[in-house]
Amino acid sequence: MISSQYEKDILDIPQHYNKLEVVTQNGEKFLSGEIEIKDEEGKIWETYSVLIKGSRQYPNMFPILFETGNAFPKIADWHVNIDESCCIDVPESEIIICKNGLHAKEFIERYCIPYLANQKYRELEGYYLYGEYSHGIFGKIEFYQSKLKARSPLQMVQMFDFILKGQILNRTAQCPFCHKMKFRNCHKDAFEELSIIKPYIYFDGKEQLIPFFKQNPNYILPSS
Ligand SMILES: [Zn+2]
Repeated sequence: MISSQYEKDILDIPQHYNKLEVVTQNGEKFLSGEIEIKDEEGKIWETYSVLIKGSRQYPNMFPILFETGNAFPKIADWHVNIDESCCIDVPESEIIICKNGLHAKEFIERYCIPYLANQKYRELEGYYLYGEYSHGIFGKIEFYQSKLKARSPLQMVQMFDFILKGQILNRTAQCPFCHKMKFRNCHKDAFEELSIIKPYIYFDGKEQLIPFFKQNPNYILPSS
């Protein structure tokens, strides 16, 4: 059994998604069937065959989505992991999203269906409607920048340090990065959120971002 919580949470999902059923294979319960992508008028745009399995860290990490109908290539460029599971978000972001536990039903609504809709859009139009994270280090930088809105790579590294040190600032204190601004109006929420993933902040910074910024002194952060 991968996650008893997951096996319990999925029992009433077929009531909401009648094309999904709970199956048991090798002692593991998971969801199998179809997910329909509908347009605004409720017209079915595409139907995807899927398996949705539990993960060990569920509900503090996403369940694992597999598309089984060969609807899109199982390669990184199509946001598919090496084990052929769908790559819905970077783990850093996943942990923050699931910080209070994310129920399997919410996962389907808020992450599975948008992921599959985005795949369909790309199949038709050749690109992703809602943008996408790049792969590898650029994906990490984009993720951190979407939260931190740093003005420079150096400032991003300084923010990492600040988060790792876990300094407590009063909400009305001046932000050490934005000056004049009150902390609660700019970086307070982002810093609190990112402090949930301190081990990632530490390793991504030390192993990837800092060496990358050193090798590429003229690199400009993506705008967010
Ligand atoms: Zn700030």
